[in-house]
Amino acid sequence: MEKKEHDLVVIGAGPGGYVAAIRAAQLGMNVACVEKESALGGTCLRVGCIPSKALLESSERYEMTQHQAAEHGLLVGEVGIDVGAMLKRKEKIVDNLTKGVAFLFKKNKVTLYSGAARFTSPDKIVVKGTSSVEVMSKRFLIATGSSPATIPGVAFDGRRIGSSTEALSYDTVPTHLIVIGAGVIGLELGSVWRRLGAKVTVLEYLDRILPEMDEEIAKTAQRSFKKQGMDIRTGCKVTAARVVGDECVVEVEGSEPLRAERVLVAVGRKPLTQGLGLEAAGVKLSDKGRIIVDKSFNTTAANIYAIGDVIGGAMLAHKASDEGVACVENLAGKHGHINYDAIPSIVYTDPEVASVGQHEAQLATQGVPFKKGSFLFRANGRAMCLGSVDGMVKILAHAQTDRVLGVHIVGPRAGELIAEATVAMEYGASAEDLARACHAHPTLSEAIKEAALAVEGRAIHA
Ligand code: NAD
Repeated sequence: MEKKEHDLVVIGAGPGGYVAAIRAAQLGMNVACVEKESALGGTCLRVGCIPSKALLESSERYEMTQHQAAEHGLLVGEVGIDVGAMLKRKEKIVDNLTKGVAFLFKKNKVTLYSGAARFTSPDKIVVKGTSSVEVMSKRFLIATGSSPATIPGVAFDGRRIGSSTEALSYDTVPTHLIVIGAGVIGLELGSVWRRLGAKVTVLEYLDRILPEMDEEIAKTAQRSFKKQGMDIRTGCKVTAARVVGDECVVEVEGSEPLRAERVLVAVGRKPLTQGLGLEAAGVKLSDKGRIIVDKSFNTTAANIYAIGDVIGGAMLAHKASDEGVACVENLAGKHGHINYDAIPSIVYTDPEVASVGQHEAQLATQGVPFKKGSFLFRANGRAMCLGSVDGMVKILAHAQTDRVLGVHIVGPRAGELIAEATVAMEYGASAEDLARACHAHPTLSEAIKEAALAVEGRAIHA
């Protein structure tokens, strides 16, 4: 077997792993990255964040052309869709980005091993690809990510009952799509297929959607989704789903079974640690199956580190990237930085939902005294011109110090607006700081200024 040696070997080329590998190479390490898929970029680039945003964009334009063009005085003929062309566009974007990662590896002299890595000892892995290679390294960084979870009684059949991976590539618009789980994936991909003409029923176990988001913000979003025709049923526990003949049958506790052409299971993701030989390496898992790490991302094995979805915390691409950079900067003797209090989270529906920091229920549970200010997009000129006035900005600030503790937005381009709030929180800003800063007119960002003013009851346009 061929033998190789490096300073650092990163396992997994997703947004956590590939970014860490590039940063480590910049810092002068002899770095390799191992990836079992033929395309680089991980779930996010191949079958997650990027392809879903491509389809969200296409489907949003279709819906706008159908329903809003006339209001803008645009006369269009009959509008149709070509699902094949839509999927092709999505694949081209994915292809560009995944090839871009390969280019960056070459540029930064990161060695790529194609195949599945398995630890044979704490300082050695075997990569099994078309041939096998034994790779020794001073340090390893595990960044293997996560895979879709399912629930007992619901088995993926790879065609009709599947995860987000299948829902990103349906070749026709389903007549009826049942989505299990009203989390981020369910609502984003449910929106795509509803806009393209599917009847979409979302079954959610809890009594609310988006359990990680501020409740008031999630409720506002839910009202918009209902208005758009998405049938969201909360308090629905799915107990089984199977394919019977030409359709899928979904069993819900306490009610009649539902039938649909396809089922999207979006009930969360689980860390991907199987087959890595973690026992041989001495890497231990928590009872939730996540790799245990300390503040420096060091696992229970001295020379092995882990970041991203395989460790605790939010399963978000940007969190993984920032952890990867912080981890390798620490290894290089620098001061790697990540602030878990200021990690934004975005749901790319229409309206978009975005948040950073703590929400009301979290602050209340911790007994942190807070004050709040909200501003509705209904009173924002730019939102009116965009024809997108549903939603609000809500700012939570410490009752005594005025420090911003959380910003929650539901509305047009919330995902872009949240960046200002994230930077403000990173710098320890107060609501007063946000209110004082000059915001260009007319922009959606004025809603942030107004919400900050509203914290002291002095919004101008409310
Ligand atoms: P999620 O955890 O966001 O939501 C899953 C939902 O399924 C929950 O609301 C849960 O209550 C519900 N559920 C669980 N069991 C159920 C049952 N038996 N019946 C009905 N409902 C049930 O999970 P997700 O949407 O699958 O996303 C997975 C991960 O990927 C999340 O961590 C998410 O943050 C991440 N992700 C992020 C983005 C983004 O940032 N835009 C996009 C996609 C995915």
